[in-house]
Amino acid sequence: MLPHLWPRNVRGVLLVFGFKIRLSTTASLVFFCPSCGGDRAGSRRSARRWFTLFWIPVVPLKSVGEVVECETCHTRFDPTVADRPTTADLHDVLSTAVRVLNAMLVRTAEPTDGPAAEAIRNAAVAQVRTAIPEYDHVTLSSDVASLDPALAGQYVGPLDEGLAVGGKELLLSDLVRVTLAGGTITPDQRRVIDHAGRGLGLTPAHVTGIVTSVVAARTAEPG
Ligand SMILES: [Zn+2]
Repeated sequence: MLPHLWPRNVRGVLLVFGFKIRLSTTASLVFFCPSCGGDRAGSRRSARRWFTLFWIPVVPLKSVGEVVECETCHTRFDPTVADRPTTADLHDVLSTAVRVLNAMLVRTAEPTDGPAAEAIRNAAVAQVRTAIPEYDHVTLSSDVASLDPALAGQYVGPLDEGLAVGGKELLLSDLVRVTLAGGTITPDQRRVIDHAGRGLGLTPAHVTGIVTSVVAARTAEPG
């Protein structure tokens, strides 16, 4: 094993050589920085060991790994930090999930016409507009025609890791409220809510607890 610096005297000249780790930027990226807590510009940097002569790197040796460095706080992370969803990614996934799940609930409403169906459609459009302001009844109709309720879990899957428990409970509670606008929760609608809960990583008991508490709160409302 060589010492870090190894001075040698060659013909009266003090020759100093050693090894140094150098970081070179290989790519720019946007990632969620756990240190400053937000979406940040970062650089992917590869670390390589260099042979140095008089403290100047002269020969690149083997690569010793990669890091992702935050350009705001300059904290360095393992590259897997870039695999986690950014806040912007999560917002997109959440908007899509809210849209898809509401359309599935409308699709499984029974009966499919009349005041109850009208009420649930209105509630669904209002709910989706909180995430996608330009959403309307025409888009809802085309979503209802094209979405398979059996796939509810797949749309929310990416939220499992990114969303805190409180956010998951809120998402499901909103869905239950939209469903109740139609007066009741049909078995098919309950299945959509259960699929969504499973996709979010919640236990069946947790989902039942959320549904029960929203139903109880609604029953307690005057009128
Ligand atoms: Zn940072």
